[in-house]
Amino acid sequence: MSKRSAPIASVNMHSKKSNHWSLGLVESMKDPECIVKKTKQAVVIKDKYPKAKIHYLVLPNEDINSIFKLDKSHIGLLEEFGDVYNEIQNEVELPVKAGFHAVPSMQRLHMHIISTDMVSPSLKTKIHWNSFTTEFFKPYAEVLEELKKNGCINKMSPELHKSLMATELKCNQCSYKPKNMPQLKEHLLSHIMKYRLPVRPVK
Ligand code: AMP
Repeated sequence: MSKRSAPIASVNMHSKKSNHWSLGLVESMKDPECIVKKTKQAVVIKDKYPKAKIHYLVLPNEDINSIFKLDKSHIGLLEEFGDVYNEIQNEVELPVKAGFHAVPSMQRLHMHIISTDMVSPSLKTKIHWNSFTTEFFKPYAEVLEELKKNGCINKMSPELHKSLMATELKCNQCSYKPKNMPQLKEHLLSHIMKYRLPVRPVK
C-alpha cells in the first residue's frame, strides 16, 4: 500500500513504533534545519518532498492528530494558521495557496502552504498532482468555515477520494490537458517563466 493510500486514521496508534514514517513531521518540527518560523501555537517547516517551488507545512505545538480531531475550541488555533498564511504570502515572490488534504497520510495536524507553479522534482505522480489540484485539497478558508459552522471537519467518502485521485490530468493554470506527467511537468515550466525565477532542470 502506498503512503498516499494509507490514511492515518487506519493506522493502529498503540502499535506504532516511534520511527514510523507517518510520524516524520513530528521529528521535522524539532529539527532547526527544517523550521521556517514559529508562532505562539504553531511551527512552520519546509516540506521534505516539496511539490512546488515553495512548499511549507504549518503544524500546531499541541498534539492534534489531524483535521478530524478539531473542534470549536481550535478556531483560535486555525485563525493563527491564517495569520501565518497571510505573513508568508507577503514574504514570497510566487502566488501561494493554503489548505489541508482531505485524507492526510502523515500524523500531526498540518496545513500545506504551497506555490501554484507546482514545479518540483518531487512532483512525480498523478496522485501527487491530484492531491493538490482537485477538491481533495481543502482550502484553508473552507476548513475554517466548516469548523465554525459544524464544530468538526467531515471525512471524505472513500468513493470520492478514489475518483478524485483518478481525475484526468489538467493544467492548474490553463486549459491544457497533458497525456502524462512528463508532458505536464514540461508544460508547467512555460507558466513559471513569467516569474523570471531560476528554474532547475525537472527530472
Ligand atoms: P499529507 O498528505 O497532507 O499527509 O502530506 C504530508 C506531507 O508531508 C507531504 O507533502 C510530504 O512530502 C511531507 N513529508 C513527508 N515526510 C516528511 C518529513 N519527515 N518532514 C517534512 N515533510 C515531510
